[in-house]
Amino acid sequence: MNVTASPIASAFSATYREARAKFLATASAAGLQATSILHPLQGPEGEELALDLVRDGPPEAERVLILSSACHGVEGFCGSGVQVTLLQDAAWRAECARTGTAVVYAHGLNPWGFAWLRRMTNENVDLNRNFHDFGGPLPENAGYAQLAEHIVPAQWPQAESDREMLEAYARANGPMALQQAITGGQHSHPQGLFFGGNAPTWSQGAMRRMLREQAGRCKTLGWIDFHTGLGPRGHGERILAGPPETGPRARHIWGHMTSPDDGTSTSAPLTGNLWVMVAQEVPQAEYTGMALEYGVVPLQQTLDALRGDQWLHNHPEASQEQRARIKRELLDAFYGDDDAWKTAIVEQGREAAMAYLRA
Ligand SMILES: [Zn+2]
Repeated sequence: MNVTASPIASAFSATYREARAKFLATASAAGLQATSILHPLQGPEGEELALDLVRDGPPEAERVLILSSACHGVEGFCGSGVQVTLLQDAAWRAECARTGTAVVYAHGLNPWGFAWLRRMTNENVDLNRNFHDFGGPLPENAGYAQLAEHIVPAQWPQAESDREMLEAYARANGPMALQQAITGGQHSHPQGLFFGGNAPTWSQGAMRRMLREQAGRCKTLGWIDFHTGLGPRGHGERILAGPPETGPRARHIWGHMTSPDDGTSTSAPLTGNLWVMVAQEVPQAEYTGMALEYGVVPLQQTLDALRGDQWLHNHPEASQEQRARIKRELLDAFYGDDDAWKTAIVEQGREAAMAYLRA
């Protein structure tokens, strides 16, 4: 840890291993126990991977608030920093106790992606596109199928023609149609981007268990899932993460919210959202949730970083130099590693969490 770092900056980490150790040590210092759901694989340094759960509040609490990090692996540096900061925040914890709210800090929903610097799970699946009934028909994404060989080309850096094909699609159909084709979720290209999978991932199973164990008896359930990669740098967009009928309740708690489904969000409409499982696993709970989505770099830079990283995943023979460059670009796209960004995301994260307590 850098001794000259500000208190907020020191809550953030440079690797999954550091983030996990910091999270567990901070919880322990706060007198809280962690429950770990271990992942079957290991991290790049041979380290253990886990979804770590820390509950601050009694098991019988009627009101539960989940604060979760790393749904999208490499995005976890953001949420982990907010979690560690709040665990150190005595005023926040006192307010949770006063309002009878049990807070569940869920560290590393996709710990494999967090550790290996991937947005996807070890199954190459986008966890927030993975919640489907796999016994039934899966959604089709014709735009992805049309552009697949240009989204993740055979060679990286991409050829000019790859960029031109994507730009031509955006000119013909609009920029949001291109974004939806790439990011909306697809089930046809297992080695492609934003793949929703053909089966439930390990992380899906771990999260279902978390819900049953941590929210199986509560009456109301709030959930703030921390994400990065869309919108202006340092700005937290409050995106509704629940069925449309939860919108009024969410807006009562959090004020202005956007939704991918009505065109108000920087996110394209998605299929297979993780909130689908809430009604399945804890139907007794009145659920209100959001994705708090922080911007880092411009969208095209983010998408290019993801395209390069998918190419790298498909080409393990790539040189060490190219691997390092692609991973650096990916990290830069999902982690605003400076004091101003960290301060901005912690302030907005704390405010959103406090708003849930006040409602
Ligand atoms: Zn995300």
